[in-house]
Amino acid sequence: MKRPNSTPGEGLTRGRQAIDHLDRELVRLLAERMEAVQEIADFKRQNPDAPLRDDGRERELFEVWSREAVGKGLSGYFAGRVLREILNWSRREQERQLRPKADEAGVGTVRVGFQGVPACYSDLAITKLFETRDHAGLERQGFRSFEAAVDALEAGEVDYALLPIENTIAGSINEVYDLLARRNVTIVGEEILDVEHCLVALPGTKLEDVRVVRSHPVALQQCGEFLDNLVGAVAESYHDTAGAARSIAVEKAVDVAAIASEESAQHYGLTVLKRRVHDQRENMTRFLLIAREPEAFDQRHPSKTSLLLSVNHRQGALLACLQAFADQGVNLTKLESRPQAGTPWEYLFYLDIEGRVNEPAVATALEELRAHTNRLKVLGSYPRCVSVDGAVPVSTPKSAANGLHSANGANGANGANGANGAAATSMPKVPAAPKKNKALKLAGPREDGSRTRVRVGNVEIGGTEFVLMSGPCAVESREQVLEAAAMVKACGARILRGGAFKPRSSPYSFQGLGFEGLDMLREAGRAYEMPVVTEVLRIEDASRIAERADMMQVGARNMQNFALLRELGRLDRPVLLKRGMSATIDEVLMAAEYIMDAGNNQVILCERGIRTFETATRATLDVSAVPVLKSRTHLPVIVDPSHAAGVRDLVLPLALAATAAGADGLIVEAHPRPAEALCDKDQALTREDLEELIHALRPIVAAQGRTSSF
Ligand code: PEP
Ligand code: MN
Repeated sequence: MKRPNSTPGEGLTRGRQAIDHLDRELVRLLAERMEAVQEIADFKRQNPDAPLRDDGRERELFEVWSREAVGKGLSGYFAGRVLREILNWSRREQERQLRPKADEAGVGTVRVGFQGVPACYSDLAITKLFETRDHAGLERQGFRSFEAAVDALEAGEVDYALLPIENTIAGSINEVYDLLARRNVTIVGEEILDVEHCLVALPGTKLEDVRVVRSHPVALQQCGEFLDNLVGAVAESYHDTAGAARSIAVEKAVDVAAIASEESAQHYGLTVLKRRVHDQRENMTRFLLIAREPEAFDQRHPSKTSLLLSVNHRQGALLACLQAFADQGVNLTKLESRPQAGTPWEYLFYLDIEGRVNEPAVATALEELRAHTNRLKVLGSYPRCVSVDGAVPVSTPKSAANGLHSANGANGANGANGANGAAATSMPKVPAAPKKNKALKLAGPREDGSRTRVRVGNVEIGGTEFVLMSGPCAVESREQVLEAAAMVKACGARILRGGAFKPRSSPYSFQGLGFEGLDMLREAGRAYEMPVVTEVLRIEDASRIAERADMMQVGARNMQNFALLRELGRLDRPVLLKRGMSATIDEVLMAAEYIMDAGNNQVILCERGIRTFETATRATLDVSAVPVLKSRTHLPVIVDPSHAAGVRDLVLPLALAATAAGADGLIVEAHPRPAEALCDKDQALTREDLEELIHALRPIVAAQGRTSSF
């Protein structure tokens, strides 16, 4: 634009002044627009029935805006993109306004942990996500590893952790999934960040000077094509992208460049040699905001629920799980499988569904799901990250986002809008789940009368087979447990028992051989092809025991150790829950509920005698508990006659009574030489006693229409 009577230099100055002025005007107008947005947010807050989004209105805005832009000779595409950003911003602002206000004075500084160094992508995602949240200040803390960030969260050193869960190019971040499975935390939000890799270096370094390109291996992989064309430079992996940028600044390395964000270049005083060096156009990372407790959010906000499950081993179980969602019209947005630690060829599934956990359709689907799962953990319900540009997580078909890049920006954005809007309202209304015994949400009987079968190694309990478990009270030596295993195996036992950690009434009695004993038990179990069950006394030992034992026993003395029950609920091992000596049947069931509520459905209940006024027996075997439990829960029920009897001779009659009453199996103490037993010697059966027992059991088991291996 050259005017007469002006030198080229003057024209430049004038043009720049005009732009500066217009930019200031734009900012002023944006601020004014945001004030209007505030008014709308106020209205929506006061009118909880008003819809949060109005797709028709957004579409209209795009049309008007685009028409006006084209009318003024501007590009409809670029005008559309500008509006899209403005709308995203407005929506974020409304979200912030609608977030339930914690005690006004109470919203103090929020501490957020992440993995990496300042200005890494996680750090940038924190900035983006917390734009929509009220806080007096944001304190960020970078950790060495994802695990360290979760440790700090659990210890209360930070309020949240923001961890990456998947990337559109590199896929899922398994370590984070594994942490969610194991730790006592919940997902409360998500954020999607556009990853824009840049090649950054010390000021003065030129592209042709670069001999080494340093970055996280995934980032290097994402920029493969660019690097191939960078003649004379080699790639060098580093534990994170921003860390690579920092290392260049620290080392003052003139021939090294890093692949990192533009922000990290700024942060470490580097310059950008080249922007957008990644091969694929769409490079987005989804982050999860993790907290210790779930958080409330506006009911109108489109939401998502993340779940973890392992299916039981019946044919078609995974299909039945997916069907449960389909039947309720619940949209599944992601399904991912991971191998289960310690159980080769078995898998954990991670699912994302639309909707929140307390919505009737979701609640009904979850209830249905429990019948087909060994483990079901709700990882969290949280507001879905929706943006006008349809920034979508990896699993959404590409076509949904493609509209964005069509020549007509307005139409493209509308297409994405439509898709989002439809998804948010696609859930049909279904009647609430039928009323049940409220207290027993998970352990109570099922609508269809179906019963849970629990798999322990290759043995199923609660099915047609009557299962005998046997072995010594305590593991005393390698020889003793191997001998015992041989003996019980020969008598048709399917599962080997043996205590390695013993809960003894006296601190001076033999306390068990601990992990050494557990290894012996496991060796004997492997040698005679029997899964093993052992008692866990302490929370600290639980996960180590779970790695070695096929089933975890909660003893009578710990039945109401709720912290221990919760811990076992977080692990993926079947639990043998023994009735407390003075626990009512309802209390046993509530104890089972604790384990199931924490995510583990594989619970077997065990009646083992209760304290009464009677002193003729060690405890009084409550035979009636068997049919009562069977009517009040779908869980398998077994009986331990040994600890009720206290003496050898009573074990057989009590075992027969329990079997006739409908128990799914027995757990019986046996020892190759009871006189030498270090624990419960008077009740230990000999080989002859065991033979007599199975002989007497056979007709009763058959009369029950059950099979057995003896
Ligand atoms: C045991 O089974 O070894 C045991 C200690 O049982 P209870 O917890 O039922 O006393
Ligand atoms: Mn015992």
